[in-house]
Amino acid sequence: MKYLVTSALPYVNNVPHLGNLAGSILPADVYTRYRRLNGDKVIYICGTDEHGTPITISAKNERLSPRLLCDKYHGIQTDLFERFHIKFDNFSRTTRKPHYELTTQFFEKLLANGHIIEKVMTMPYDQKAELFLPDRYVEGTCPHCGYSPARGDQCDGCGKLLLPEELKNIKSTISGETPIFKKTTHWFLDLPKFSDRLKGWLESQTHWRPNVRNFALSWVKHGLKQRAITRDLDWGVPVPLPQAAGKVIYVWFDAPIGYISSTRELYGGDASKADEWWKSKDTQLIHFLGKDNVPFHAIVWPSMLLGVDEGYNLPHYIEGYEYLKFNGKKFSKSLNHGIWLDEAAALYPADYWRYTLISILPQTKDADFSWQEFGKRVNDELNDAIGNFVHRSLTFIQSKFGGKVPEPELDDAAKEMLKSIDATFEEAGKLFEAFDLKGALNSVLRLAKKGNQYFNEQAPWKKDNPTALYVSVQLDAALSVLLSPFIPASSQRLWQTLSQKGSVSSTSWSAPKVAAGTNLQKPRPLFSKINPKEAAERLASLRGKRG
Ligand SMILES: [Zn+2]
Repeated sequence: MKYLVTSALPYVNNVPHLGNLAGSILPADVYTRYRRLNGDKVIYICGTDEHGTPITISAKNERLSPRLLCDKYHGIQTDLFERFHIKFDNFSRTTRKPHYELTTQFFEKLLANGHIIEKVMTMPYDQKAELFLPDRYVEGTCPHCGYSPARGDQCDGCGKLLLPEELKNIKSTISGETPIFKKTTHWFLDLPKFSDRLKGWLESQTHWRPNVRNFALSWVKHGLKQRAITRDLDWGVPVPLPQAAGKVIYVWFDAPIGYISSTRELYGGDASKADEWWKSKDTQLIHFLGKDNVPFHAIVWPSMLLGVDEGYNLPHYIEGYEYLKFNGKKFSKSLNHGIWLDEAAALYPADYWRYTLISILPQTKDADFSWQEFGKRVNDELNDAIGNFVHRSLTFIQSKFGGKVPEPELDDAAKEMLKSIDATFEEAGKLFEAFDLKGALNSVLRLAKKGNQYFNEQAPWKKDNPTALYVSVQLDAALSVLLSPFIPASSQRLWQTLSQKGSVSSTSWSAPKVAAGTNLQKPRPLFSKINPKEAAERLASLRGKRG
């Protein structure tokens, strides 16, 4: 089996915050790293989403052309994801020419196959600004849940897809005026046609999380509507029809096609190489995303893949995360509520953030990041349970055995501990297979705690205990491998301290053996404690300096 892993393409209009990182990009990276260690063929595909009203609105606010705004933030995001050790196989852009070509082909094929319908509809129109108001150009109250501000295409409160005319108290976000409704021609994806096939397919996806599967199924059961996939906008992939001058394809139609165009880019544009991932039956297509993206990935995108009828695989698994909050509230740029990745990178090592975010990953319910939580995870778990165990065992080997791994005489306690190592590889591996990343991390943490207990019971400071130190080194090496999907930089440092060759990320998902007689490097502490109160102050002072 091969694994094609994607994370939702981030809009290229901002500096991402911790919630953006935790909401798909980091877990997809962690999962891919596990797959690679497990010896599986895997690629991780992403890129920036450069179309739609999120881009045009931000461009206007920053007084840049959409093109320059995209250039600016593509650079910033590429750099930040690297600093958090996100290892994409390809990170593309949806404004590149091959993506335009592929999106055009998708549209034309769906049209030719009778899945796209031309219709006249009414859309909100700003008389002052003299333009139609798609998507984020209008805001109002959600008719389903009462959330405000809901956008013209989706409600952030309940996740439902909306039409602008459904919004109550609709306002133009450009002029603040109440828009009039005016007739305009658009092209619709005929989703009802796919209902039966989608329903059967969704019902058979029993390995999905119930919240994701039920959310998608309830959409189908309530009756799918034809969805407009074109917009009156001047930024996007042009609709490839002579009568559609000035209209572009909806960003949510072109964005998932970006997964395919980015895969092709990885192979220098060779479509047949990309198809080995997209069309071969021995590949699982796995999408990581936030719950607001579930309807697009579980309904619209599969319909597109079915509709072009070119043998594309449907998603095997859709991981739709709940939301990460900051101090109990939504991240908000306008209120400066949250922590942004440039700030996070300036404050603490990437591994502290990666560890904490996975340990509180919102897999089944919303999660909350607070400095207290960060302190607890970094101090009690990373530093005390993991870092201290490793450091104690390695410094004892330095002081008692000159840094050389001693020859053991394996007693029952030692054998039991070595067995626990194997059992953890097996258990954490199974949890990864079930997409329970948080569970896999907990399993590794339990092993480290067991190691501490073993070390304390064996008390190698009381008498020479070469066996306990030998076993501890095996545990150190195991932790280095087990933790490498989560905290790759620290794992690699530990790997080198243990005089192991190459990269820990390219070893295998099994207990490594550090032979007796191996000369270890002098250990340095892997982590240090943080003070949550000081962390908040450091962030404030960083913001002060930046103005
Ligand atoms: Zn709503």
